[in-house]
Amino acid sequence: MKAHRLILLGPPGAGKGTQSERLVKALSVPQISTGDLLRGARNAGTELGNQAKVYMDTGALVPDELVLALVEERLAAPDAARGYILDGFPRNEAQAEALTARKVELERVVNLVVSDELLVDRLSGRRICRKCGASYHVAFRPTAHEGVCDVCGGEVYQRPDDAAGVIAQRLEVYREQTAPLVAYYEKAGILRTVAGHGEMDEVFERIVEALEL
Ligand code: AMP
Repeated sequence: MKAHRLILLGPPGAGKGTQSERLVKALSVPQISTGDLLRGARNAGTELGNQAKVYMDTGALVPDELVLALVEERLAAPDAARGYILDGFPRNEAQAEALTARKVELERVVNLVVSDELLVDRLSGRRICRKCGASYHVAFRPTAHEGVCDVCGGEVYQRPDDAAGVIAQRLEVYREQTAPLVAYYEKAGILRTVAGHGEMDEVFERIVEALEL
């Protein structure tokens, strides 16, 4: 079976996590989200997690050496040999270069495009389950019981970096450091741009079409 190696690129709130979950099911490859790995390291109280904390909570990028250490470890796990969906990595040119240096063949980079207004609406209303990571939205996808995860009954909370003050900073970081990767992968000939507005199912259909799977 073909090893699918994909990157989902796009600003925070573009739907990378949501769409990755669907691609995981459709392609039977793992999702590798550096945001999830970093949050896991924080929850576990590792030294790396503690170091990452201040950057994450202020909407800055965590230093490359910390992120690359996590990614290297994750890519070495047996399940990643079958391929993977990278969600939230790479996030700047140095990280993209580090990935290129591994000489793995990337199949496609999906660039999810969403207006700033919609990004802010999505991020400011987003709520996450502390236990299983399921994602909700106060208006677009509320839990059946306030504060309680529909999937696992865990506590549903707002990520500190989804607070109003931090969102603008994250969007700025995206524009300055991550957006140049659009041109980087366009040059490599593997970029596909997909409109990220609308229903999750609709967006997923657009992605499948763009990937020509
Ligand atoms: P995310 O869940 O992808 O929105 O990531 C949450 C936060 O984790 C980001 O705002 C960064 O502080 C940090 N982070 C996640 N992925 C990376 C990365 N590839 N490089 C640097 N920082 C990252």
